[in-house]
Amino acid sequence: MKNKLLIYSFWVTLSLINAAWAQSPSPAVAGNTGPVTLFSNVRIFDGKSDKLSAPSYVLVRGNVIEKISTTPIPTDRRADTVLIDGGGRTLMPGLIDMHWHAMLVRPTPDSALTDDVGYTNLAAGAEATDTLMRGFTTIRDLGGPVFGLKRAIDEGIVPGPRIFPCGAMITTTGGHGDFRELYMLPRKSGEPRSRVEQLGAAMIADSPDEVRLRVREQLTLGASQIKLMAGGGVASPHSPIDVTTFTEPELRAAVEAAENWGTYVTVHAYMPDTIQRSIAAGVKCIEHGHLMDEASAKLMADKKIWLSTQPFPSEMADVFPPGSTQREKFQEVLKGMDKMFRLAKKYSIKTAVGTDVLFSPALAKRQGQLLTILTRWYTPAEVLAMATSANAELLALSGLRNPYPGKLGTIQEGALADLLLVDGDPLTNIKLLGDPAKNFVVIMKDGKIYKDTLSK
Ligand SMILES: [Zn+2]
Repeated sequence: MKNKLLIYSFWVTLSLINAAWAQSPSPAVAGNTGPVTLFSNVRIFDGKSDKLSAPSYVLVRGNVIEKISTTPIPTDRRADTVLIDGGGRTLMPGLIDMHWHAMLVRPTPDSALTDDVGYTNLAAGAEATDTLMRGFTTIRDLGGPVFGLKRAIDEGIVPGPRIFPCGAMITTTGGHGDFRELYMLPRKSGEPRSRVEQLGAAMIADSPDEVRLRVREQLTLGASQIKLMAGGGVASPHSPIDVTTFTEPELRAAVEAAENWGTYVTVHAYMPDTIQRSIAAGVKCIEHGHLMDEASAKLMADKKIWLSTQPFPSEMADVFPPGSTQREKFQEVLKGMDKMFRLAKKYSIKTAVGTDVLFSPALAKRQGQLLTILTRWYTPAEVLAMATSANAELLALSGLRNPYPGKLGTIQEGALADLLLVDGDPLTNIKLLGDPAKNFVVIMKDGKIYKDTLSK
């Protein structure tokens, strides 16, 4: 009996703690105790400015940047206070990759479908640790069964970035992400779902009602935003790139279901028609956009629609076998890239950036270097602002579904402490991003130090 009472009171206490936690919208406040780190003599890139600050002190308490000052900040000298002398190095916000697939970096397209799921998750966990150690403290996951990995990272089981998950990409029969073989058609009623659906990597929906169901399932699983494949894609075997897949009512059903949960829909879209139909349906963000035209660019600017795009390197073609239709489609996308970035600049489209590395551990190692390709169109300061504060602005569209309330992508008092100490000035030498093992001497996420080569 006594035991039962104890267990009951423990449960009540836990519930109260949970309730208190739920009522406090910002862990930034709830976590504002705990370990203290003081950076001294750092020059700050704040996520926006094109100039570094004067030599400064930055105090991190718990998971929050508590104080920034050009004069020394006193600490209480607790034994566990970490003092980091920056030696004039640059302190910048952690990088954010807005188009990442944490579960699909290491496998090949075939092994993603056939490997043991436990193995897949462990490999993705190791890749997530590498991602964090490349200085990416946050990723927006644009498709894949990533909820378990996210939970393990958030619980501290495996080091990795913050994850804003979409869960399964929602597509149509024959759309991008429908990885069924042709012999599997037609789908018979009552037959088990295809492997890609069983894994939760993609879900096929062919009516507004089915779309609503699949969207609500992802939201229930913890999606912070919803991704629909509104047009054809490169990596799928049977999806021509020119096709616009979902109808406007289907897209609108997704938008309605997502907005009822206080979040938004982003769509995979290359072609002008796909972009325009998606915007008409209330979609807030376009992924890729590489084949956009003047009219769709102007529409995006007028309606303040986000472009979440990627500077693809030409070597990305090597992910696809020579002579394959996938490789051909990739070349077409690559051809559109210069025009897209010119249009994005001409119309001042709100632009977020990512890398969309799929099925290539080798390219993943170049994650930071891939961002530097953007200097063909933007200044280094613009690139760094996109990869930090602009990306964070788009993340915030998740509203109440944001798993990490608090300010990201910036160095200011009260913001979440995701920080990189860079050996050099990335505003004048953005190539520093290409060798994180050498150049990022401190990596902090949520106030916790994951790498520190200085204070030891
Ligand atoms: Zn993608």
